[in-house]
Amino acid sequence: MQKNPVVSNARLFRSPFSKEYWRAALAEFRNLKMLLFAALIVALRIALKSVSIPVAADLRIGVGFFVNAFGSMVYGPVIAIAGAAVSDTLGALLFPSGPYFPLFMITEIAGSLVFALFFYRAEITSLRVILSRFCIDFFVNIVLQTPIMMAYYQIMLGKSYKIFHLPRIIKNLVMFPVESVLLILFLRLLIPPMTQAGQLPKGMNKLAFTRKNIIVLAVLTLIGVAALILYIRTRRKKAKPMNDTRQDILRVLAETYPDAKPELNFSNPYETLVAVMLSAQCTDKQVNKVTPAVFRDFPDVASMAAADADTLYPYVKSCGFKSKSQNIVAACRMIMERYGGAVPSTLEELTSLPGVGRKTANVVMAVAFGKPAIAVDTHVFRVSNRLGLAQADNVLDTEMQLREAIPESDWNHAHHWLIFHGRRVCSARNPKCSICPLTGLCAYYHAQKETPHESNTASL
Ligand code: SF4
Repeated sequence: MQKNPVVSNARLFRSPFSKEYWRAALAEFRNLKMLLFAALIVALRIALKSVSIPVAADLRIGVGFFVNAFGSMVYGPVIAIAGAAVSDTLGALLFPSGPYFPLFMITEIAGSLVFALFFYRAEITSLRVILSRFCIDFFVNIVLQTPIMMAYYQIMLGKSYKIFHLPRIIKNLVMFPVESVLLILFLRLLIPPMTQAGQLPKGMNKLAFTRKNIIVLAVLTLIGVAALILYIRTRRKKAKPMNDTRQDILRVLAETYPDAKPELNFSNPYETLVAVMLSAQCTDKQVNKVTPAVFRDFPDVASMAAADADTLYPYVKSCGFKSKSQNIVAACRMIMERYGGAVPSTLEELTSLPGVGRKTANVVMAVAFGKPAIAVDTHVFRVSNRLGLAQADNVLDTEMQLREAIPESDWNHAHHWLIFHGRRVCSARNPKCSICPLTGLCAYYHAQKETPHESNTASL
């Protein structure tokens, strides 16, 4: 790395409350090398967003926070704000079902700003690192995040958010000392070589392992361990045996998604069958775009049976494979031949149609004929197994277990509740447990397989 004498000899500031400080921070924005470095930090933050270090049971520390702190220390508050906004926007665009949550962009920006205000062109002491962590865990993760979550719950879920949520507060209490210690060690490791290489101003490193600093680290570690024990005890008390929770899970889902219904547009059994067949490996939104023209030009089973697959294909091309149009036409021909043009309503009859599997048949039975059925698609499979409503490794067993676990009167609703929850909160790669109303009841959450820290939606 080439030494940069301008950076090496740059002035350090005692606090960010001066014009010179902000002039220096603004000047970084005109420095091409600094912008390239910021782009690298943004890329790293996106790449490391889902990477975390397990601290204990269901506690994890997002690795992104180290990168965030380091970047903010080098390029200062102005680029830090822009970098956080860019990394969250890009991340959400690249990984729409990932851990990104639009409202958390505010906390992401706030966290980057806090790190920059504490570390940029400053003498970095243990106390400074500890204060920066405290500001993030207390002011950002609790004080700032609470009204954001209240707004989210009110607007999106029509529910009120629990302001005094003990596990969340204890979680941040646990994280504060643990993250402080790790951050001190991380910066202690990086600042000296960066200073030596002329990429940081001289005099920033005040993190030497003096007796005083070692005592500070030891005290913090002790506080962390005590808070950790308190946290684990709180979680244990909260966990209930799964058999007692099924009803609660269904109740919470019903309260959370009272308007859950099919998101496909159709008005009769024929349209239901066609729309559901088209929806395999395609979004409901896309299906809804193509079906108006399909239903206009092929209004019933007879007209679809009289068509050929090549005629139908251009209408439904955007929904995927050509085999879908072949199956739809073939299914309608069979309905004409065997059932006189009326879509059958039993599982056996429906699954005998070309391209109609158990899932499609169950959806048609439930929504077109109002018969009790549980269709297990990817969302239902994932969410029900995470929640512990089922414990199966295939869709058929999941369906059978859900039939046992859920009262028959709720089967049709449960299908939609689980789909809504899977789409909005419990996504495949990164379930948004931090905003999930089911954490206290979820087997997956309690099994501590994937439980992001409340603030891990951000790299804080
Ligand atoms: S707590 Fe997490 S894993 Fe469990 S249902 Fe909610 S989002 Fe899914």
